[in-house]
Amino acid sequence: MNEPKPSLLDFTQTELLTLIKPSFRAKQIYGWLYHQYVESYEDMKNIPKALKEELAQKYIVNPMKIVKKEISTDGTIKYLFELQDGKTIEAVWLKMKNEEIDCDGNIVHEAKYTICVSTQVGCKVGCSFCLTAKGGFTRDLTAGEIVAQVVNLKRDNEHKHNRMINIVYMGMGEPLDNLNNLAKAIEIFKEEEGLCISGKRQTVSTSGLSNKIDRLGEMDLGVHIAISLHAVDDELRTELIPMNKAHNISSIIEAVKRFPIDTRKRVMFEYLVIKNKNDDIASAKKLVKLLTGIKAKVNLIYFNPYPGTTYDRPTRADMVAFQEYLVNHGLLCTIRDSKGIDISAACGQLKEQTEREL
Ligand code: SAH
Ligand code: SF4
Repeated sequence: MNEPKPSLLDFTQTELLTLIKPSFRAKQIYGWLYHQYVESYEDMKNIPKALKEELAQKYIVNPMKIVKKEISTDGTIKYLFELQDGKTIEAVWLKMKNEEIDCDGNIVHEAKYTICVSTQVGCKVGCSFCLTAKGGFTRDLTAGEIVAQVVNLKRDNEHKHNRMINIVYMGMGEPLDNLNNLAKAIEIFKEEEGLCISGKRQTVSTSGLSNKIDRLGEMDLGVHIAISLHAVDDELRTELIPMNKAHNISSIIEAVKRFPIDTRKRVMFEYLVIKNKNDDIASAKKLVKLLTGIKAKVNLIYFNPYPGTTYDRPTRADMVAFQEYLVNHGLLCTIRDSKGIDISAACGQLKEQTEREL
């Protein structure tokens, strides 16, 4: 295996302008990367061979390749990527809204998509319900490896650079445990001459590293946060998410209150519902109390079972009763429809399945 090289996608536009001379060539290359989504130097048609050879010595264009793709009947596409060092990660293409067509067959509104990206190979947090946690932690992704997931998915789905897309950092890994690379990827996504994905369109999901929530807030990137809460008392939360010992529920709630959010938006609280663990109305009642005074939105997620887990999926009736209790007590609450339920839906499941097959 060759020694892994940095990727051109690791750099901001400003950095590329200092790395590549003359600057008009840097701009052309930037266009090839973010408007044409090229995979190799050969595809950069108007760039002199000598410059391409010089760059190729130091930088790779695309730091990953698609090794598996699963397409769900609902339009969800799950990708498994192999990185330069042979490690694998997942990213998911989610169709959030179908296109609207008028009676003449013209498209009135284009379909809306969200890309779910990974931030680490594995994860240190070790949640008891999460398949990604089972393999332990391998390494952080570079900024370029985070950016490349979006570029590769847009290319594979022929999604033009100027079409809107949302990003959720909800794939494998804990984004705030890789904060510097995450922040750089967010900046690269935001660049106006590149993919132009504003902070508002990017949601960082965290298991609740409260000190890092503060640091992300101080960076003022304009992103949204989603908190993987999953439990309303510290005892159960520590069973589910061991690092809750160091970052307990009240420290997370306090950090959320300090986080700069767009006044029109809400902080999302994700609540993974596990049968006979946290699906009772007493928990719903505590949740209402806990979120009092926060502009919150709760997203209930069905636990998605996998071979070897001791947890079960809740019943639909219990999910709906939980949701109704929250809604009747003034909380916005949705049930996440299990997109891609027919493919290995939750994070870590495609990777796990592939490794079992190999
Ligand atoms: N580490 C971050 C982001 C990645 S996890 C976090 O924990 O927030 C992304 C989401 O997948 C989390 O909300 C997590 O609760 C959910 N998840 C993990 N395992 C799951 C499973 N077996 N079924 C359903 N959702 C799961
Ligand atoms: Fe890591 Fe998130 Fe999985 Fe917990 S749920 S182990 S934080 S990826």
